[in-house]
Amino acid sequence: MLVGIGFDIHEHSENSELYLAGLKLEGVGFKAHSDGDIILHALCDALLGSVGKKDIGYYFPSNLKTPENISSLKILEKVLSVIEYPSLKINNIDIIFISQVINVSKSRDKIIENLANLLDINSSKINIKGKTTDNLGIIGNQSASSCQVIISLTNA
Ligand SMILES: [Zn+2]
Repeated sequence: MLVGIGFDIHEHSENSELYLAGLKLEGVGFKAHSDGDIILHALCDALLGSVGKKDIGYYFPSNLKTPENISSLKILEKVLSVIEYPSLKINNIDIIFISQVINVSKSRDKIIENLANLLDINSSKINIKGKTTDNLGIIGNQSASSCQVIISLTNA
C-alpha cells in the first residue's frame, strides 16, 4: 500500500475568482501564480508523495517557467502522467479544508463529484471535512485558507 500527504495554503484576494477542485465557485478566490486551487494543489502533492516523485513546485515553480494563472487542472494532468496514474488504484482520499471564509460543506457534493470524475474513481472513496481555526491566526482572521489531503493507493 502507498500513502501520500499534501498541504497547501494561499492568501485570499477579493479580486480573484474562486477555483476549488477544478470548479469555478461563488466566493472570494486566492492570490497565486496559478488559479490558487488549494484542493488540487494539496491533492497533487499527495499523489506525488505517494510514489516518491517530489512536489508540484518541482514541476511547476511559482515563477516565469510556469504560465501565469495556469489552471490547476493542467497541473493535475501533468501529475497524473508523472506518477503513471493508470498503474495505480486509489483506495481512498481524505481531505481537510480549513477556512474561515469558505464553508466547504455547501459545495461538498459538487467537489466530490468533480474529483471523482477527474480521477475516474467512485465518489464514495472521497471524503471532505470542513474546519475553521476558531478565529485563530491567518486563517482565523480570513487572510488565508488551507487544505490538507491524505491519499491511500495500491499498485493496480
Ligand atoms: Zn497552491
